[in-house]
Amino acid sequence: NVALTVAALAAAVACGWRAHQVSGRMAWSWGLLGAAVLSWGLGQFVWTWYESILGDEVPFPSLADVGYLGMPVFTAAGLLAIPIAAQSAAHRARSVLDGLMIAASLLLISWIAVLSPLITAGADSQMAMVISLAYPATDVVTVTMVLYIFLRGRQLHSAPMPLVMIGSGLVTFAISDSGFAYLTMTGMYSSGAVIDVGWFVGFLLIGVAALKPAKVPDPAVEAELATRPLGVLLPYVAVIAAVITSSLELLHTTNRGTFIPWNRNALIMLIVGRQLLTLLENRALTRDLEGRVEARTAELRASEQRFQALVQHSSDVVTVVDESATVIYQSESMERVFGHPAHTLVNRSLTELLESRAAGRLREALQSVAQRPYGTLSIELPIRRVDGRVCQAELTITNLLEDPNVGALVLNTRDITDRKELENQLVHEAFHDALTNLANRALFSDRVDQALRRRDRDEHPIGVLFLDLDGFKEVNDSRGHAAGDELLTQVAERLRASVRPEDTVARFGGDEFAILVEVDPDGHNDAEVVAQRVIEQIGMPFEVDGNELHVSVSIGIAYGGPHAENAGQLMRNADLAMYRTKSAGAGRYTLYHPEMHSALVDRLQLASDLRRGLDEGEFALFYQPTIDLESGVIIGFEALARWHHHTRGSIPPAEFIPLAESTGLIRPLGTFVLREACRQVMEWAPDERRPLSISVNVSARQLDQPDFLDVVASVLDETGLPAHRLCLEMTESVLMEDTENVLVILNGLKEMGVRLAIDDFGTGYSSLSYLHRFPFDVLKIDKSFVDRLHSPSGEMTLARTIVQLGQGLGVTTVAEGLEHFEQFMALRRIGCEVGQGFYFSEPVPATEVNRLLDADAETAWPKNAVQPRPAKPLHSSHGVPA
Ligand code: C2E
Ligand code: CA
Ligand code: CA
Repeated sequence: NVALTVAALAAAVACGWRAHQVSGRMAWSWGLLGAAVLSWGLGQFVWTWYESILGDEVPFPSLADVGYLGMPVFTAAGLLAIPIAAQSAAHRARSVLDGLMIAASLLLISWIAVLSPLITAGADSQMAMVISLAYPATDVVTVTMVLYIFLRGRQLHSAPMPLVMIGSGLVTFAISDSGFAYLTMTGMYSSGAVIDVGWFVGFLLIGVAALKPAKVPDPAVEAELATRPLGVLLPYVAVIAAVITSSLELLHTTNRGTFIPWNRNALIMLIVGRQLLTLLENRALTRDLEGRVEARTAELRASEQRFQALVQHSSDVVTVVDESATVIYQSESMERVFGHPAHTLVNRSLTELLESRAAGRLREALQSVAQRPYGTLSIELPIRRVDGRVCQAELTITNLLEDPNVGALVLNTRDITDRKELENQLVHEAFHDALTNLANRALFSDRVDQALRRRDRDEHPIGVLFLDLDGFKEVNDSRGHAAGDELLTQVAERLRASVRPEDTVARFGGDEFAILVEVDPDGHNDAEVVAQRVIEQIGMPFEVDGNELHVSVSIGIAYGGPHAENAGQLMRNADLAMYRTKSAGAGRYTLYHPEMHSALVDRLQLASDLRRGLDEGEFALFYQPTIDLESGVIIGFEALARWHHHTRGSIPPAEFIPLAESTGLIRPLGTFVLREACRQVMEWAPDERRPLSISVNVSARQLDQPDFLDVVASVLDETGLPAHRLCLEMTESVLMEDTENVLVILNGLKEMGVRLAIDDFGTGYSSLSYLHRFPFDVLKIDKSFVDRLHSPSGEMTLARTIVQLGQGLGVTTVAEGLEHFEQFMALRRIGCEVGQGFYFSEPVPATEVNRLLDADAETAWPKNAVQPRPAKPLHSSHGVPA
């Protein structure tokens, strides 16, 4: 008894200490629990006191019972004080029903085991009866409350107390307590019985729980706890225990009171009630779930429709295929672009639209992309349209096999037939002379290169002939250009007829031609034999416009050999030989001899002059205005370098620019031009009231300069010219060099705000795809296309296509070499924005620019010029025929 007293008091102290550590409702809870244990301890103390004095004669009821019965009262208050998370009404109702089920079950068990026998045994007084019943009854209440809290504890997201331990302590205690009542009733109890151990354990658990550090709740464990079936089953376990107990009781006794049946009835009602509640709750849950699924489905459908609309209206055709090219999805745009209705392709192989070679390439491409997750690959393939026509398509394949939403390969296809055709045409243009359709210099030199490389293998020598017509200039001057062109065409035909099909005939411009001869081992097709034949052929009279015309030809011949390692050298040799023929007298041929080299020496002299001229200020800039074709006003100038040689006089850029490029002097020269041009335009138009632009030509060699970006930046900084007013012009050849490096520099310029132009557009032979990759702002249409606008046939398709290409890319198109009113009108009609050429003004020295700008105000073209104006240049002091 003493030990129990001490145990209870110790547990009370522990609870009190914990109450002191925490705050709020938890402090209350622990405090009340402490009070409960303390109350019991005091009761025990009194009881022990009585027993030690009175022996077995301890009165019942006594003061000790007050202490004992205080315990369940304080315990109940303490348990109620535990903070429990708020719950929905349905939840709370279910918890209450669960609690009632537990209470009724426990009451039934207690009734059978303890209460009913107690009543039957009777007592000395009414009071004694009530008190002795109060013990098991309050035990039922305590256990019920503990179980109830366990049930609700499942919803506690942060268990604020070691609930399990306290609960176990309280339950152990209550069982011992009821057991004690039972034993006392049956007269089997005396202090120190086994049942006392239950009390000890109870206090121990409560005390340890109070001392245990409050643990930080782990959400994962909480979630796990919440799914345990224990909480749901607990009330049923209690009910089953009650049913079994009562059934056994009913079997054993014949004396059936009314309590057991009524209690069982109450249990049945509770179970039914709870079932109903669950049913209702489930229905609400289902409805809620259905609602949410519907909302989600609607959302998904909307997003899918949005996506589909995007895909369908895109100009690209989107196809989803598996690795074997079988179509899984096909966007509707397929019908618009290639004519095939989308649904006819699904589940069929895409290769059915391709010729067998293209199909093979597509399969190969798909396989290679399929190896690389999220990799892409672009290929160009001919695709058969529904009407049988074959068009060129560009396919970009993206591997989305790993993407859980797609799990396939996605193809973006676009029709690039027009682009391809223009490209092919431009490539042809780039390699052929427009008038005679012979090869041009670029193609010729390429062929020579190839032939030289072949010769390395099979020992066949090659010969190159350079031809220059004698007397052509006279024909041109006396009979007119048309007659000159006709004559050139006929010469070209005769040349072609004089050689074998595998030999190459080229026109280099003007009256210069060249022939590449692959010499037979037996000498039948020796270059000299060919030269002789050509001289005879050309020597025969031509008939042009009913007139008989006579010309002759001077030929230089060079063979591949030790003096000619590459095409450049071989062609230069033939050229030198040809000049020798000319000076010796026309109508003959000359074989190249190494002594002819001296011409080259002249070039070296010129190169050193160039260096000196740069130092001594022999270079100056001329400016040619660019005109807005719509309003007719000057919007800027192109700076063009001029060299005034101290002895030789003016040397054209066509001569000194290549020289400067090959000697590297283009860098200082280019920097001079850039600085001078920027300075000059700031002098004419210092502010944004008239933001005249200035175009400066740059060579590929300048872009190689490591500090090119710095040079441009510092010139802009020095002169104060806003970057957007500077436009750098470069030819397509720049892009052929080292694409990646060039791209870095161009992007750097772009970032500065400098504008970039492609000069002489259409004469290079690069793929048009660079237009997408490089950040150009301006396309300068080469003079050769503008010239054709003036030809009798008025050919304007190419110029128009280029302007449209520019519009498609969102860049400005500038027509170069505009010389005639008709060209001006035609360019305006096809939507070209800017023009430049002798029609407006030839390049003029800086001193005359102010005059041009003043005159501009008066001569600006009205917006809708109907009357052809006389084709007078704005400025004609340089005597160029307009
Ligand atoms: P480009 O950049 O295409 O310059 C246009 C050329 O066409 C200029 O020749 C100009 O005088 C000429 N031109 C302009 N309008 C007409 C016209 O209506 N009819 C005819 N027949 N020609 C016209 P220019 O000044 O002799 O320059 C020749 C080339 O030399 C330039 O061609 C450009 O590539 C190069 N060049 C000139 N200055 C520089 C320079 O400072 N740096 C570099 N890198 N190249 C330069
Ligand atoms: Ca230019
Ligand atoms: Ca040009």
